[in-house]
Amino acid sequence: MDYIRPDEYSTTNAPSSGLLCYNISMRKRPSFDEIYMEVVDVIAKRATCLRRSVGAVITIDRRILSHGYNGVPPGHEHCTDTGKCLKDLAGTEEYKICVHAEQNAICQCAKRGLAVEGATLYVNADVCITCAKLMVSSGIIRCVVRRDHKGNSDGIELLRKSGVQVDEWPNV
Ligand SMILES: [Zn+2]
Ligand SMILES: [Zn+2]
Repeated sequence: MDYIRPDEYSTTNAPSSGLLCYNISMRKRPSFDEIYMEVVDVIAKRATCLRRSVGAVITIDRRILSHGYNGVPPGHEHCTDTGKCLKDLAGTEEYKICVHAEQNAICQCAKRGLAVEGATLYVNADVCITCAKLMVSSGIIRCVVRRDHKGNSDGIELLRKSGVQVDEWPNV
């Protein structure tokens, strides 16, 4: 990242009036991709799984439509409540109760009647095959993903095969 972070703003050399405005106008503005890849990391702090913390953001026209983090459906115990990851307790993939960040972000749109066709989804972990299917079927056209390599490439391959533009974000 070659832009100046907010905590690096300096007001020491600014003129005595309009201090902060002067400095903001001098810095290089981050792109929306850079901003939203920071947002997914903040959203991921709300995750309730003990195994990993994932955040997702859905945008349309460069504005946030929805966000999600990994947890369980409303009304169920979280991994953080039981002290053991529910994925392990479930035993098999079919019965695991976990809802992924991407799924929660899409479900929130379903709940509120918001169309995601033509949207971009940002996420900070490998996309699984189920999330990839939902993204393709709901009309999401671009995915910006920072891989954590805790999953595999199946989801990303499915996205690409289905015509979704996948941009892999570098790990820093
Ligand atoms: Zn868990
Ligand atoms: Zn998933």
